[in-house]
Amino acid sequence: MEAQQRASFRSLSENIGQFSLRDKTFLIPEMNRIGAHLIAGVFRSFGVNALVMETYEGLDLGKEFTSGKECFPCQVTTGDILLFLKKEKEKLGEDFRPENYIFFMPESEGPCRFGMYNKYQRIVLDSLHELKKVKIASLTSENSYALKGLLEKERARDFRKAAYFSVVIGDILDRLLWRIRPYETKEGATDVFIERSMMRMADFFESYGAKKDFDRILDKLEEIVEEGKALIDPDISPKPLIGIVGEIYLRTHVRSNQNIIKVLEQYGAEVINASIAEWVDYTTYDKVRQAKVGLRLNLKQLRFDKVKSYMKQVLSYRGDLLYQHIRLDKAYGRVKPLLDLGGDHRVAHLEKTLTKHDLYSFELGTEACLSIAGIMEYMHDGYNGVVNVYPFTCMPSTITTSIMRPIMNREKIPFLDAPYDGTYQPGREAGIRTFMYQAYQHFKRRGRKKHG
Ligand code: SF4
Repeated sequence: MEAQQRASFRSLSENIGQFSLRDKTFLIPEMNRIGAHLIAGVFRSFGVNALVMETYEGLDLGKEFTSGKECFPCQVTTGDILLFLKKEKEKLGEDFRPENYIFFMPESEGPCRFGMYNKYQRIVLDSLHELKKVKIASLTSENSYALKGLLEKERARDFRKAAYFSVVIGDILDRLLWRIRPYETKEGATDVFIERSMMRMADFFESYGAKKDFDRILDKLEEIVEEGKALIDPDISPKPLIGIVGEIYLRTHVRSNQNIIKVLEQYGAEVINASIAEWVDYTTYDKVRQAKVGLRLNLKQLRFDKVKSYMKQVLSYRGDLLYQHIRLDKAYGRVKPLLDLGGDHRVAHLEKTLTKHDLYSFELGTEACLSIAGIMEYMHDGYNGVVNVYPFTCMPSTITTSIMRPIMNREKIPFLDAPYDGTYQPGREAGIRTFMYQAYQHFKRRGRKKHG
């Protein structure tokens, strides 16, 4: 029994980590649909056979292999990988080779449970004899998602640049969707257009990602934005503006959040969701912050060997952050003159907002840092309502609501909590309708942030 336990603990360190992707099929779970397809394009441009798995269809399997106490995204992604491998096995029969697949499941450091998904999924795969050899590739926010091990060292840096750029472009395509769809001339046209644009862009990343020909990708993006603009009916007046914050998976995974953005739009909203790039920037920013803390501490204690190492870390992470800002500004700088899409806040600015209002501290970490500050920004920018979207029992999102609800009540800005766990709650739509009624009253009284 003890030997068995030792073997399973060993599996957590030996079969989760950074393995060479050469000659493997790299399985990417779909979180944000556009982002997943673009990053798969980037992987392919670096010679990795990457594909995005279908999502949510395996939820029954995910539930069968979880206890119900796990976070909902863990159940969904467990179902995604199990269903994919099941179908693959049925398709290939005797030729199915589990060792040829690597499942991608990044993680983040505590205090919340995202760091445990891949461990749990490892235990599930190990419990199914024929899937033991499927490895799990992980990146961690602990080192700001550095890639060492997955790709050759000399290519990892270029990959990181292209991957970050794909995240920014994915955000812009999403923002294009949310900007056009509430004002579309023909119902359904925007969804079709964005799906096609996503595929075109994924091909572009596959062709030009590894070459880092970002200007060519931006030229294509401009073309797409121009085409999208033509779908807007100029006679439709501006609608109440709703901001979304929350847990990154739930607020971007359309099936898990029961397409909340579209439902809000059906009740008269224009919606902007928090971006994915903001999270990546946050992890890099937080590394700079932590390295600075270490530097100060060791300077005080005159431990010069450590001072040198922290100094190096500060410079290196700062360099990454600066690079990310340059890429972000360049991309938004190209599209904003064409169409008034919302942009991202600098994370340093968000931290200042939290400190100024004494609401929360970056020392405590988690997405609550971004969500609380994000709501404050929506408030200052004149949004007509805010929705917090998250998995049922999610810790950072519950903290967000407990801090922000009293403030939103005081400011008389409509605020909706939207927890999801895969069940259909009968009162959900009525709740959204009521929220939109309040948002409309707010809009009538106070107007809204103008386009452009
Ligand atoms: S952010 Fe929420 S849903 Fe995600 S791991 Fe943490 S507690 Fe779970």
